[in-house]
Amino acid sequence: MKVYCKRCNQNEAFEVPEFSISEKRKIRNLKIESSLKAIKTIVDNYSITHRDAKFVVRHINLEYGSCNRCDVNDISTEYSTCPKCNAMNFNWKMD
Ligand SMILES: [Zn+2]
Ligand SMILES: [Zn+2]
Repeated sequence: MKVYCKRCNQNEAFEVPEFSISEKRKIRNLKIESSLKAIKTIVDNYSITHRDAKFVVRHINLEYGSCNRCDVNDISTEYSTCPKCNAMNFNWKMD
C-alpha cells in the first residue's frame, strides 16, 4: 500500500507492505532495540527498498494511540495523520 506523511513530504509516497500482527509486533520490538536493526530486517524480508524501510521504521509509534512526534495520545486508527503535527503514525494495533 502507498503511504504518505504530510509532515515529511506530502508529495512523496512510500510503499508499505501489509504486515501481519506478529510481524508488526516483531518490527516494533526491533525498533525499540535499534532502528537500524528494524530497517535491516525489513529490507531483508520484504521486497521494498531501503528508503521505504526507513520510512516504515521512522513512522512506527511505540505506544498505541500516541503520536511519535507530539503529545497527541488519542489516535485510534492505523496509518493515521496526527491532527496536531501532521505526522504519519502507523499506530499498529496488536491485540
Ligand atoms: Zn513523517
Ligand atoms: Zn502529532
